[in-house]
Amino acid sequence: MVLKRIFCVIFILSGIEVVFFSGFCGFANDEWQLNHDGAGLTEEEEIELGKKVDEYLSRELYFETDEELNKKINDITSLIVSVSERKTLPYVCSIVQSYSINAFSSPGGHIYITNGLLQLTTTEDEMACIIGHEVAHSSLRHASKFYQELKHIFSQQDNVHENAIAKLLLKSHLNEFEEEADRKGVLYAFNAGYDPHGLPDFLERHLNIVTHNGMLSIFGMEYYVKVGMRINKLREFIATLKGDW
Ligand SMILES: [Zn+2]
Repeated sequence: MVLKRIFCVIFILSGIEVVFFSGFCGFANDEWQLNHDGAGLTEEEEIELGKKVDEYLSRELYFETDEELNKKINDITSLIVSVSERKTLPYVCSIVQSYSINAFSSPGGHIYITNGLLQLTTTEDEMACIIGHEVAHSSLRHASKFYQELKHIFSQQDNVHENAIAKLLLKSHLNEFEEEADRKGVLYAFNAGYDPHGLPDFLERHLNIVTHNGMLSIFGMEYYVKVGMRINKLREFIATLKGDW
């Protein structure tokens, strides 16, 4: 039962923040099991899970149908994937018709970016860095690792104290995933010929909009501090890369 419930928790790792998409959405599948070596989901399971998430999102959201725009975004994605360590996944980038500013990915190579995010980007470098961040979540197998963390939490659910500690650890690991995807994402963009400053530049613009439009009460100071730290760490990392920009 516990195992079945775990499979009902579908997650999406976001480029702007971590978005959890949970609930009993019909994704449950008793056939999905951990690998024998405990390494998480197999690649086939990741792809299958990604298909289920995509089917669900296709029912709930509207996707942009502009062929030229979709081609442009997927050309950038292909270029980023070509310099990544995990090229075997069937990567597809879809544009969600939403004014919200977000990017997220699901297991198996599905990437989603919103129209709102597209409108806020000012250069292809920024777009490449954002897509790089999402590709990094896939190449670093964050989905599979996160799944293992979830399994552990649900296995502890009868012990409230241990469950609370596990959730704190989970939050900490998610922050680690984001930091890791930030560094790897700008490295992919850099290796694909883009300016890696695109990601901190974009995050800074987003933070300024939030700050100067009275939206901090919605996003919270934690968001302000967290994104500020991401920007600083990215700029420090990019300073170690050698390139012409
Ligand atoms: Zn992310």
